[in-house]
Amino acid sequence: MAATAKTSPPNGAAHIAELDASKLIVNLAETLKPIPEDAHFGEHKTDHMLVVSYEPTTGWSAPEIKPYGPFTLDPSSSCFQYCPNVFEGMKAYVGPNGEPRLFRSNKNMERLTRSAERVALPPFDEKELLVLIKRLVMIDKRWIPTKEGHSLYIRPTIIGTRTALGVAASDSALLYVFMTPTGPYFDSSAGGIPLQAVSKTVRSWPGGTGGHKLGLNYAPGFLPQRVAAKDGYVQILWLLPHEGEERITEAGAMNFFVVVKRDDGDLDVVTPPLDGTILPGITRLSCIELLQAHTEGRTVLPGIPATQRLYTHERPITMRELAAWTEEGKVVEAFGVGTAVAVLPIGRIGHEERDLVLPSQEGLGVVGKALLRRVLDIQTGRFEWEGWSEVCEV
Ligand SMILES: *Cc1c(COP(=O)(O)O)cnc(C)c1O
Repeated sequence: MAATAKTSPPNGAAHIAELDASKLIVNLAETLKPIPEDAHFGEHKTDHMLVVSYEPTTGWSAPEIKPYGPFTLDPSSSCFQYCPNVFEGMKAYVGPNGEPRLFRSNKNMERLTRSAERVALPPFDEKELLVLIKRLVMIDKRWIPTKEGHSLYIRPTIIGTRTALGVAASDSALLYVFMTPTGPYFDSSAGGIPLQAVSKTVRSWPGGTGGHKLGLNYAPGFLPQRVAAKDGYVQILWLLPHEGEERITEAGAMNFFVVVKRDDGDLDVVTPPLDGTILPGITRLSCIELLQAHTEGRTVLPGIPATQRLYTHERPITMRELAAWTEEGKVVEAFGVGTAVAVLPIGRIGHEERDLVLPSQEGLGVVGKALLRRVLDIQTGRFEWEGWSEVCEV
């Protein structure tokens, strides 16, 4: 009696189960799909998905890997009404010996925890979810493309499934993970992409949710994106008005970097700071850390002399500054970074009836090229760096 009294929650409440990978149930598909030759981002899903549900009285259910397919959800589910929907974007790559690899995936789990917390969805054990994702990747590993620049995109998602219509936190949830083979997200063979700078509508604001990967951050960008596309721009450069200036925040759903020549011949690499309006990208962090390692002499980035110093700055960048640097011929290049694209050159920026043309119009410059090469080499296990790439073995 004493032993059970110790482990039973008070008031006779049922045991709230943690997310537990050892309870995994695997139901494999009877027939496997043919793997497409080439596909648009997200067009084809792999054979299987991972699904786990959370109920306030019982906690996390036994996780299940099963054939990819639709769900049945109550039409009044919170996710359809108030959007407590959060997600992650990560990738699996093939290593030199054909082994599936993930890149800094613990960072994705930490960010998913913060996103879930921000919209009051139930917490989950990050290590257990990572074990489950690795199992899913191993089961569908034939889907990881081996072609250079291609990989398997992984989309962990948590949605609120509470069916009471009151405007309140969802105390039940569905966590699922599906995967899709991807190639280059944008065609940058023609050089840098054109961006339309927009400040009349904003992606994020101080005190808002732009620093989290929440589904609700993206739909409000679709209309401005359509307008930009009509004007011939591939993505939006999101600005944020601040004390009479316009601060650059992000390029579409990528973090923004600009490389500027210094008077002493070295280079400044500048990106906006994580002040809550910027999504804390894992590619952004990796680029900053690699540039610092080069300047501190701990590595030499490909194609950059060891003596070339690259000073990173996380600080606000205004449109006026960028225009001035461009006019003075100081800009070396600008690029966007993120899991989907790795590093993508920015060619020109439409702002107030004119286009700011950047040297990266012709493609990535020396810094962008070095970062792209090094990041891809780490992701695919061709360059070992601080344990950033882990082999899936479970
Ligand atoms: C996901 C995302 C990024 C890039 O983050 P990574 O972790 O590098 O993939 C940047 N900006 C926005 C708005 C995003 O949603």
